Amino acid sequence: MDFNWSPNQAELFERSLEFAKRRVEPHAKAEQFNLDVWNECGEFGLTGLAIPTEHGGLGLDALTTARVLEAFGQGTCDLGLLFSAGAHLFACARPILEHAEPELVEQLIPALARGTKIGANAMTEPGAGSDTQQLAARAVRDGDDYVLQADKAFVTNAPIADVFLVYATTEPSHGYLGLSAFVVTPDMPGVRVGAAMAKVGLGSSPFGSLYLEDCRVPARYRVGPEGAGSRVFQSSMAWERACLFGIYLGAMQRQLDAVVSHALERKQFRRPIGKFQGVSHRIADMQLRLESARMLLYRACWMHDQQRDSVLAISLAKLAVSEAAVQSGLDAIQLHGGLGVVAEAGIERGLRDALASTVFSGTSEIQRNLIARALGL
Ligand SMILES: Cc1cc2nc3c(=O)[nH]c(=O)nc-3n(C[C@H](O)[C@H](O)[C@H](O)COP(=O)(O)OP(=O)(O)OC[C@H]3O[C@@H](n4cnc5c(N)ncnc54)[C@H](O)[C@@H]3O)c2cc1C
Repeated sequence: MDFNWSPNQAELFERSLEFAKRRVEPHAKAEQFNLDVWNECGEFGLTGLAIPTEHGGLGLDALTTARVLEAFGQGTCDLGLLFSAGAHLFACARPILEHAEPELVEQLIPALARGTKIGANAMTEPGAGSDTQQLAARAVRDGDDYVLQADKAFVTNAPIADVFLVYATTEPSHGYLGLSAFVVTPDMPGVRVGAAMAKVGLGSSPFGSLYLEDCRVPARYRVGPEGAGSRVFQSSMAWERACLFGIYLGAMQRQLDAVVSHALERKQFRRPIGKFQGVSHRIADMQLRLESARMLLYRACWMHDQQRDSVLAISLAKLAVSEAAVQSGLDAIQLHGGLGVVAEAGIERGLRDALASTVFSGTSEIQRNLIARALGL
């Protein structure tokens, strides 16, 4: 077992950390999507981390991708932007790269890798969230096209997306094998994108609804064979659950560093508060939770890179990182006292940005179901 990073991985981590601090963090306070910052991140390579170099990306494996995202999460509190980049990369660009016909890959991937086109994925519906087998969205073959009807909810990047990966039922009676995936662009007739919805946290990651009404999509825009939609989605979720959560490792490291400084500086009862066991043990637990989640995430990414069966490892990692991130956000507030809840101080943002992490990419309960299933329960 080798816990060392290669010189290239170490250099990329430091460069990413420095870039995030210098170019992203100064804009983070606005909590709004900033296209200039997005474009700069695209030039850096963030939007194409796990896309092969021949398609315009950085060609990183899952482990190095997660490590770079960790550096970004440590370097800036703009987790919304990083989350948007992750959703774009793992749930739109990667599945298109892996499953679409070569012409479609050629047409879309270089621009997605550079971030000059923004990607989104549309699976969730008002009536189908955790249960992705119950989609009401329909795609009916008609000559060289499919005609799609869909009402999609909570689509990250919807208000800014150039490319949607949309899941719809092609054969209702076939269950898991009844879904198919399609590339839809906002300029296609019958496409309507809802207004950005306000939400708690991740403010710079716009999300909203997508409506398709008699939307005619050329068959060559299907991603993967007909009926392979669930497989396409699962492969994208494996990437997303493993790598994207690197941003929360970085955020937790940032919070830990901040609470240690605060506990050393802040004095009450004529002593630094870090000298009180009630304070220092909470910080020790933050460290323990971060380190355990980090190891689980690195292992999950490594297994994914080795093409081993990584479903259990990825669920364990996603669950551990997201629940640790929420707890870390709560701890950071408690340890800062009144300052912890003052918006201007920026401490409470950590909790706000963590809350959704136990919901998206499969809820904590769904991860526990997957873990239990892997144990034969
Ligand atoms: C910030 C954010 C970004 C998102 N981005 C996207 C996106 O880009 N594309 C997209 O398609 N979707 C996206 N989603 C939607 C997300 O995938 C869903 O919210 C999630 O899958 C849960 O679905 P739901 O909200 O319908 O909740 P439900 O599935 O209705 O779940 C409600 C509660 O019931 C629990 N539950 C449901 N089924 C079970 C079960 N079998 N066992 C135990 N508990 C269960 C859940 O865990 C949850 O606690 C996003 C969500 C958020 C919050």
